[in-house]
Amino acid sequence: MHRSGATMAWNVFKFCTALRGLGSIMILLVLGVVGVTYYAVVLTNYGPALYAGGLDFLSAFAILILFHSLLVMLLWSYFSVVFTDAGSVPPNWKPAVDEERGEADPLVGSDFNNVAPSDPSNQHIRFCRKCNQLKPPRCHHCSVCGRCVLKMDHHCVWVVNCVGALNYKYFLLFLFYTFLETTLVTASLLPQFLAFFSDGEIPVTPGSLATTFLAFVLNLAFALSVMGFLIMHISLVAANTTTIEAYEKKTSPKWRYDLGRRKNFEQVFGMDKRYWFIPCYSEEDIRRMPALQGLDYPSKPDFDSQ
Ligand SMILES: [Zn+2]
Ligand SMILES: [Zn+2]
Repeated sequence: MHRSGATMAWNVFKFCTALRGLGSIMILLVLGVVGVTYYAVVLTNYGPALYAGGLDFLSAFAILILFHSLLVMLLWSYFSVVFTDAGSVPPNWKPAVDEERGEADPLVGSDFNNVAPSDPSNQHIRFCRKCNQLKPPRCHHCSVCGRCVLKMDHHCVWVVNCVGALNYKYFLLFLFYTFLETTLVTASLLPQFLAFFSDGEIPVTPGSLATTFLAFVLNLAFALSVMGFLIMHISLVAANTTTIEAYEKKTSPKWRYDLGRRKNFEQVFGMDKRYWFIPCYSEEDIRRMPALQGLDYPSKPDFDSQ
């Protein structure tokens, strides 16, 4: 699962890099797809069905309520990813003092490049030559953003932003709600799509028919591709791994940040259940969970002694 996930992630990563020149046009593209879908579902098909009465009214009403609720969650998550900085390294960041050993990390000295990489307690302190600064654990340099990004997952063109420590949860919720919404739209437009191929008279204008056809094809395509992406990210969250780390560690069986599924999930979504499905965190979670700040990550208690 990990191996194939990593390979797939890398393909998506390359694809995103190839598309990065498109910039904020991608936001307009997303809004365009939403607009076409809204026109097809609400204005052409299920809005008019509200006047039908009886069972048609009930099903149209249910579909419209669900469609609008998911759309609000989708757009809220989407713009949270777009406008939330993934996390940058604070100026002059230094590794924290090792409390257990009661001494400062030797890397803080001037010759941090000479520290033996075999020392397990130091292996996560790295240096970025481009930014000329120390890298916190799980931080990576993004060539698109031109800076180091905390717990970088990938740079994605769809949100015109890096996905990292501070907006990864919002990105996952965006995937989740996009999958639900596109699946709902595909299922609810299927009868109209099939009617397109029947010989009978179709009681709508050619323009409405074309929009319905386009919306169906687009939503089906998004539902299928987002499903693959969502499955990959569920396996990544379960193992407490970023896309980049999954690619880098390859088949390594031990992973220092793997705390067990439940805790791995909480490291991304927070411990407060009321906030799991919305793109924000409770103040208490931000205070008690250092991982949400992106600089400090709990690792397996027995990791360093192995
Ligand atoms: Zn850097
Ligand atoms: Zn980036």
